[in-house]
Amino acid sequence: MKTILTGIRANSVLTLGNYLGALLPMVRLANKHSHDFQVNIFVPDLHSIISDVDGNLTENTIRSLKYYLAAGLNVNENVHIYRQSRVPAHSELCWILNCVATMGELNRMTQYKEKGEGKTSVNVGIFDYPVLMAADILLYDANYIPLGEDQFQHIELTRNLAMRFNNKFGEIFTVPEKTADQVKFMELTDAIRIRDLLNTEKKMSKSTAAENSKIMLNDEPERAAKKIMSATTDSLGKIKFDMFVQPGISNLLQIEALVTDTPLQDVIATWAGETRYGELKKKVASSVSQMLEVFQARLSEVTDDEVYALLEEGEKYANEVANKKLFEVQKAFCLRV
Ligand code: ATP
Ligand code: MG
Repeated sequence: MKTILTGIRANSVLTLGNYLGALLPMVRLANKHSHDFQVNIFVPDLHSIISDVDGNLTENTIRSLKYYLAAGLNVNENVHIYRQSRVPAHSELCWILNCVATMGELNRMTQYKEKGEGKTSVNVGIFDYPVLMAADILLYDANYIPLGEDQFQHIELTRNLAMRFNNKFGEIFTVPEKTADQVKFMELTDAIRIRDLLNTEKKMSKSTAAENSKIMLNDEPERAAKKIMSATTDSLGKIKFDMFVQPGISNLLQIEALVTDTPLQDVIATWAGETRYGELKKKVASSVSQMLEVFQARLSEVTDDEVYALLEEGEKYANEVANKKLFEVQKAFCLRV
């Protein structure tokens, strides 16, 4: 059986953009493939500590996992949930791969260039985390790793490390699929980018200060509806999907489609020729508040105990699989016979 592997960050409260653009597509992908793939969903908590120590890391980890369950993730015997820090093989393999990766190739990582290049005070974790990421992937022979475009370079690095390793030591690692094939597998034609409700040139972000610019997953449904009603539109007086000319209106149509699970083309057709922005806003406001109500009700039903029980099973599985791979690698390096 092939393996899909995805990391979900231990996060603070998420926005509707995070939900529609990242959480929901991932849950749908996992549900679609959980009968013919192993689906590994892990919280990369060792990656979280790179930026800073977060006093709420444990709490945020559990909350993130609850979000996935509330978003409809079906857990069966092929779906495994685990925390990176509870599977020591990740750190072990990272060290060994550090002895395979070169300074040159890590220096080329754009994420590092943006965040740390040239700063001597930057921690080594920022430089090295692509290698930890390679370990996260290679330990499980993962084929598909659904990720954003900003991470493609790290997939390529993982492929290069695996191929270099295999050339020297034999076929120990599965080389993950090329990024182009990853994208095909994800069935993403266009990346979903929900816009900021007030400043429609920007994407909706949880770190944006203005409360009315973003819908948070824990917003009171009524409050969320009000935010939609006050969203920026334009003065053209026609409802047409065109992200460049009418980003505000297009954003509302896009949200309506995703929240009601209707093809965008159908939503566009329904509103074609309409001119009353207020009517569109009312409809989207109602759809969003209904979605939030359902999501929040489900979320309140997911207990800590449920999450910890899933982690117990998942971490047992992950340690078994990862240790097996690590032993092979240790043998190759003459660390064991
Ligand atoms: P921050 O402001 O802290 O960067 P963010 O809202 O941009 O927060 P991230 O943590 O950077 O969120 O991203 C989490 C995931 O959500 C990523 O997969 C990212 O692609 C996705 N995402 C973030 N914002 C949007 C958005 N507006 N529309 C669709 N997807 C989004
Ligand atoms: Mg961001």
